Amino acid sequence: MAHLIVITGPSGVGKGTLITLLRERIASVRLSISATTREPRQGERDGVDYHFLADDAFDVLIAEGAFAEHARYAGKQYGTLLTELDERDGAEDVIVLEIELQGARQIRQSMPSALQVFIAPPSFDSLRERLVRRGTDSAQTIDERLAVAREELGAQDEFSEVIVNDNLDNAVEALERLVQGQLRGAID
Ligand code: ADP
Ligand code: 5GP
Repeated sequence: MAHLIVITGPSGVGKGTLITLLRERIASVRLSISATTREPRQGERDGVDYHFLADDAFDVLIAEGAFAEHARYAGKQYGTLLTELDERDGAEDVIVLEIELQGARQIRQSMPSALQVFIAPPSFDSLRERLVRRGTDSAQTIDERLAVAREELGAQDEFSEVIVNDNLDNAVEALERLVQGQLRGAID
């Protein structure tokens, strides 16, 4: 079975950016494609960025026990399908789950050997700036996400590994070190 790495942190902190850069550095890193009931953003593709589902289809999958974890975030459902955690992946492979706090807690319970990394912003204001600059969300959505972010930031002490994404190069370097450590079987 592959190594599982959970990457969590508030919306806009740079999780997606860091994972893209991590995948350029470590070829064996694969991203689990989550299911969600939110609308696709411009340019997002079904089955590539997410499995985009209607609410009732998502509920059927919950009832069938198809999720490793699932949670409601800003009024929408998100979840990791067990089929994304393919047991054919080998010990050299890394599967990254980019998920929010409640899902990270569920995985901590069910898969305690997974490495959990919290990505923190240099400041709360930088989150708003990044969400505005990203340009993918309405002002109302940004406010909703920032309200959730306050709670998420309050939970970062639960995580033994916290990376502050201030300078992007330093942050990706730190993430790569953690993942390489996990692959070697020892975190230093
Ligand atoms: P998340 O996946 O956590 O929601 P994104 O990866 O989409 O966040 O990043 C949000 C925005 O912040 C993007 O526009 C991205 O280019 C920018 N960003 C990411 N990391 C940094 C950084 N270290 N410094 C400044 N801007 C950043
Ligand atoms: P977004 O709508 O910006 O793509 O994602 C919103 C939040 O949902 C982010 O914090 C993201 O990490 C989280 N998320 C994405 N996929 C999953 C998932 O499968 N499970 C959980 N619990 N959260 C997810």
